[in-house]
Amino acid sequence: MTIQTVGIIGAGTMGNGIAQACAVSGISVVMVDIAQAAVDKGVATVSASLDRLIKKEKMTAADKDAAMARIQGSTNYEDLKKAQLVIEAATENHALKVKILQQIDGLLAPETLIATNTSSISITQLAAVTQRPERFVGMHFFNPVPMMALVEIIRGLQTSDATHDAVHALALQLGKTPITVKNAPGFVVNRILVPMINEAFFVLAEGLATPEDIDAGMKLGCNHPIGPLALADLVGLDVCLAVMEVYLHEFGDSKYRPCPLLKEMVAAGRLGRKTGRGVYTY
Ligand code: NAD
Repeated sequence: MTIQTVGIIGAGTMGNGIAQACAVSGISVVMVDIAQAAVDKGVATVSASLDRLIKKEKMTAADKDAAMARIQGSTNYEDLKKAQLVIEAATENHALKVKILQQIDGLLAPETLIATNTSSISITQLAAVTQRPERFVGMHFFNPVPMMALVEIIRGLQTSDATHDAVHALALQLGKTPITVKNAPGFVVNRILVPMINEAFFVLAEGLATPEDIDAGMKLGCNHPIGPLALADLVGLDVCLAVMEVYLHEFGDSKYRPCPLLKEMVAAGRLGRKTGRGVYTY
């Protein structure tokens, strides 16, 4: 199946990023959110992002106009009917996603593909709430979408080869590098990343090195662009803790136990950059 028009549900951080990636690659977009203000904000974010590219001489004003003309904002799910693929990128809430998926499942043509950008909810479980589980797949983009090259394509137990191949081809068309992953908590990248951050907290708690030296070690020794503790502050310590608790619960393996220091810091409200203090003070 060739995908010429992509529907996107949610015009937030990820939704508008995916819209931008599609529109600059020549793909038409219908981006739907609940309120007109959210739609307008999403479209304005894409416009501002493309303006920055023009300023850096990475895009011409004419190319920007052409890309913006491919984006239709809407508050009406009916407008999604013209898409061959709808990517759900609404707020990370299980009940909300189930509601949205069931709503669009009843509305879209049976052959239309549905993808979700969820970071943490089971693709197999979400596929099962639709009447088209074989045409359902995970497309996990990374933030900021226009900059980040990776897309994890997550196959639920039911996802067909044709569905996988169609979104794989789309990811390539968007200039991304897709990797194919079987459904499991954290998929691949966060499954490895978050336990590494958790281990950095154990290293800190054991007093093996200062936060600065732990981060410098991983930056210089492993070529990571940012150290694990600084990254935890960026992501949010509460988010890191919640992810570890999901792994511990889902896998039932004590290797995923959250570091007590991480728990203590979250209990103290030191959540990272967003609260002005985490491992570091901002
Ligand atoms: P966000 O809060 O920035 O945006 C979510 C948008 O969804 C909001 O504009 C909200 O109004 C809209 N929305 C809520 N209910 C809706 C409905 N019923 N219909 C249409 N729109 C609705 O969130 P985000 O960071 O863009 O995250 C979106 C999804 O992407 C989540 O599943 C998240 O886990 C995933 N994700 C986020 C990141 C990240 O770094 N932010 C990275 C990868 C994946």
